[in-house]
Amino acid sequence: MIRIWGLGFWVGLSALGAVQAPADARDRVDWDKIDLTAERRAIENYQRYDQLLQNVGWRLARANSEFCDRVIPATGLQLQDMASYGAPEIARRALGLSGDFAVQTAATGSPADLSGNFPSNREVVRINAVNLNEWENQGPFDWQRLARAHDLIDASVQGYEAIEVGFKDNHVSVIASVPVCTTRFELMGEGKKAVADGSRVVIGIEFPAFQYEEDEFAALVAHELAHNLLSHTAWLDRNKRKRRNVRMTEREADRLIPWLLANAGYDPRAGKRFFEKWGPKGDGGLFRNRSHDGWDERAEFVEAEIPRIEALMDSQGKADWRTHFVREIDPDKGLER
Ligand SMILES: [Zn+2]
Repeated sequence: MIRIWGLGFWVGLSALGAVQAPADARDRVDWDKIDLTAERRAIENYQRYDQLLQNVGWRLARANSEFCDRVIPATGLQLQDMASYGAPEIARRALGLSGDFAVQTAATGSPADLSGNFPSNREVVRINAVNLNEWENQGPFDWQRLARAHDLIDASVQGYEAIEVGFKDNHVSVIASVPVCTTRFELMGEGKKAVADGSRVVIGIEFPAFQYEEDEFAALVAHELAHNLLSHTAWLDRNKRKRRNVRMTEREADRLIPWLLANAGYDPRAGKRFFEKWGPKGDGGLFRNRSHDGWDERAEFVEAEIPRIEALMDSQGKADWRTHFVREIDPDKGLER
């Protein structure tokens, strides 16, 4: 079970936790007891983690897009919806919004970021002609409406069209879209798991790698992204999650880490450093079961890719894993022929 889109906000906020009566919390808030400054700080803290995840995810998915099977246009803009918070009215007031939507993050280097118009928490009212606040919501904890807003953005840029974002202050920003590997990156508000489900990479806010160097954190994100890029979920669905099969897919995801890092301008050796830092104490997450190699073996598998990657980077300026990466599995196994 994966919690997504804002469910975690509730658990993350101290004062919000004190009014844990989701049913009609909005009507029964004792405003004298709510420290809006603390609420805002808690939201901003969550956003710092999300920003890092989006920055790294964007950089990996953008830089590797020419090698991915599935590519979509993207703007790098991520919104937030007050209806997804545990206490929407508190969140609204803490952020000084009159409506429900605002910027969550603009991934560094993305068209949204480069426009300079998308600081976190700036209030957004419309995407093209659609006023998002007019959509019904089931808040609190309604994450579906935010997913719908992101689906709308994806659909609006399908042919690489620009989108027009209207702000509460009546300004309008037009952002272009660029190709990225198809995956959404989502921060989970609790836990230290990291998972990939074919279309998303979801990382718990307590995963220790958030505190590592950025290229080491990027190695974790790259491992999960690799599962999606190599279509592991679908392959395992077809060929069963036998220990041997899981191990092969895990090893493949590990070995692809330095390729993804190199293309994104990160140090490909950060993959090895990630396992050395995280491995000795790591639990849960990547070590969900015994179908994984030990962390020291994993570090070695990652390192073994480096010479080939460096040779390609030297000769071609990029590490074309689509052509040169050696698979552990037969990717077509189980497909109808
Ligand atoms: Zn994995």
